[in-house]
Amino acid sequence: MNLSDRLNETAKQHDSKTAYHFMDQSASYAELNGAVNKMANSLTAMGIQKGDHVALLLGNSPHFVISLYATLRVGATAIPINPIYTPDEIAYILRDGDVKVVIALDLLLPLVEKAHHALPSIQQFILCETSSDTHEKLSALGEDVKEKVKAFSRLLAEETPQYKGPELDDDDVAVILYTSGTTGKPKGAMLTHRNLFSNASDTANYLSITGEDRVITALPMFHVFALTVVLNAPLINGGTILIVPRFSPKDVFAIAKKYEATVFAGVPTMYNFLYQYPDGDPKDFASLRLSISGGASLPVALLHNFEEKFNVRVSEGYGLSEASPVTSFNPLDRDRKPGSIGTSITNVQNKIVDELGEEVPIGQVGELIVKGPNVMKGYYKMPEETEAAIKDEWLYTGDLARMDDEGYIYIVDRKKDMIIVGGYNVYPREIEEVLYTHEAVVETAVVGVPDPDYGEAVQCFVVKKNPALTKEELIEYCGKQLAKYKLPTVIEFIEELPKNTTGKILRRALRDQIKTGS
Ligand code: AMP
Repeated sequence: MNLSDRLNETAKQHDSKTAYHFMDQSASYAELNGAVNKMANSLTAMGIQKGDHVALLLGNSPHFVISLYATLRVGATAIPINPIYTPDEIAYILRDGDVKVVIALDLLLPLVEKAHHALPSIQQFILCETSSDTHEKLSALGEDVKEKVKAFSRLLAEETPQYKGPELDDDDVAVILYTSGTTGKPKGAMLTHRNLFSNASDTANYLSITGEDRVITALPMFHVFALTVVLNAPLINGGTILIVPRFSPKDVFAIAKKYEATVFAGVPTMYNFLYQYPDGDPKDFASLRLSISGGASLPVALLHNFEEKFNVRVSEGYGLSEASPVTSFNPLDRDRKPGSIGTSITNVQNKIVDELGEEVPIGQVGELIVKGPNVMKGYYKMPEETEAAIKDEWLYTGDLARMDDEGYIYIVDRKKDMIIVGGYNVYPREIEEVLYTHEAVVETAVVGVPDPDYGEAVQCFVVKKNPALTKEELIEYCGKQLAKYKLPTVIEFIEELPKNTTGKILRRALRDQIKTGS
C-alpha cells in the first residue's frame, strides 16, 4: 500500500466525508482525490514521469496536499522546501535535488524569474495564487519565462478528474527531505513509499488516530513531523485535517473550538505559546482527546502546566527526518512517563549503544539507534554520509539517550550539544528542565562556551516573565537542584530565543551569537 492508492480507496469508500477545512474552504475526499487526479494529469502532460523530481515551495494549504499526492501518484518524487528559505538555500536544493518542476507560492515569482535563467533544467513552474493580481503578474512576464509558468488554479479547472498512472513500487523514493544542515551542506533524506506509508499507519495505530478524528494541522507541512503525523496519518484513515496556514495561538484556539478538534500536535515552543497566551480558554480545547508533542524535548514543568490549565492529555514522542520520522511515543493505554519519549511504536526497534555500537546496560547513557520499515533509503547522492548514518540497517540518530527497564526512552541531549566542564559531562537539557520550573521563566536555552580553566562553561539564555527576576536569584535557584559544576556561570536575559520555522530553539545560533559578540 502507498499513500496515493490509499487516498484513491478512501475517496471511493467515504466520498462525501470531509478531508480538510482550510479558512472558508473545505473539500470532501472525492473532491480532494479529483483535484489530485487533475494535477497528476497536468504533471504528466508536462512530461513528468516516474523518478522525476518536483519541488514544493508551499505553505500550509490545500495546494500542498494536492501537489504532494499528485506528485506521488505519477510516480515522481516530491521535495518539500521551506518557502521562507533564502534564495541561495532554495537554489541549492533545486540544483542538488535535480528538480524538473517547481510548485510554488506566487509570492516567489521574483525567485522563479531568477531560477529560470540560473537553473535551465527546471522545465516548468506552477504558481499558486495567493492574491487577485497573480494572473496580471503572470501575463506581464517575459515571453521566455511565460512559456514555463502555469497558474495552479487553471490546471485544476481542467475537466479530467480521472487518472490512470503507473504502478508505484514500495521501494521507490516518494519524498526527499533536506535536513536543516546544522553541519556542512544540507542532506536530502530519501524516503520511500513504504517508509511514508508504514510510518503514517504505525503512528496512527499507536495513537489511535481514526476516521472520527479532526486533527489540527498547524505544524509546517514541509516538515516531516507535520507530513506524517498531522497530514498522512489522518488522511489514510479518512479523518479530517484542519489546516492552519500559520501557527498562532489565536487561530489554534479558534479552530479547535469551531471544528471541535480532537487531536493537536506541536513542538514544545508551540505548547509554551499556547500556555502563555492570555486569552487561551480551556473550553475551546474541550473536544481535544489528545495533544502530541515532538521535535524537541518538552520540559516536564511545561507538560504539567499545560495539562493542568487545559485539562488535555499530552503525549510526547520522538522522531527524525531520516526515520519518516516517528520511532517512539508515550503509549495511550498505559501511564505515560513525563520527560520520556515513550516506547518503540509498532514495527520499530530502538537500542542505546556505546561508541563501538554495543548495547549499553539499562539506565546507561549512549547513542539512540533505530531500525524499521520507516528508516530512509539513504541521503540523495551522498553514499558516504549514508554509510555513516546507517549501519546494519540501524540508523544512528546522533541523540544521546537512556532506556529504563520498561523500555521507556529518555533523550538526554543531542550528542553535539553536550557540554564538558572540567571533564564532567553536562547536558543542557537538565539545566533547562530546572529553569523551566521557575515561575518567572518563559523560555530558556543552555549552551557551552569556551572557558580558560574548565574547557567549557555553562551559559543560559533566559526570556523572563517578571522584570524583577535577577541573574543571582536564578543561579541560587539552580544551585538548590544541580551539582556545582553544572551551574551556569553566565546568564543572559533576552527578549526572544532564536527558532527555526518549525519552532525549534536554535542553540547553534546562540553559540554563534556568543562567538561574534553580537
Ligand atoms: P528533524 O529531522 O528536523 O525532525 O529533527 C530530528 C531531531 O529532533 C532529533 O534527532 C532530535 O534531536 C530532536 N527531537 C525530536 N523529538 C524530540 C524529543 N521528543 N525530545 C528531544 N529531542 C527531540
